[in-house]
Amino acid sequence: MLTEQQQTVMLKKSKEEALKMVTLCLWCKHFLLSFGTDDYSELTPGNPPECQCYKGHWCLDRYSFTMKDYRIGMLKAQTCLDFERSDE
Ligand SMILES: [Zn+2]
Repeated sequence: MLTEQQQTVMLKKSKEEALKMVTLCLWCKHFLLSFGTDDYSELTPGNPPECQCYKGHWCLDRYSFTMKDYRIGMLKAQTCLDFERSDE
């Protein structure tokens, strides 16, 4: 028989494993999220914010993206052949 504490550890491990099985672009090494940088001057312009799959499977249009677009992008990892788990 497992002790109460052993059962708790088992459940916790099981939950951690289940969470790992959810494949999202968030866990992919090709996911790119950048908040951009400000312009310093006319000669040194900044960069616009970017949120996309670096393999080109999806890219949010920074002028018109919605939360739905973002969620759909994240979920594309579930069938993406280029998905590679990030070590970070
Ligand atoms: Zn991707």
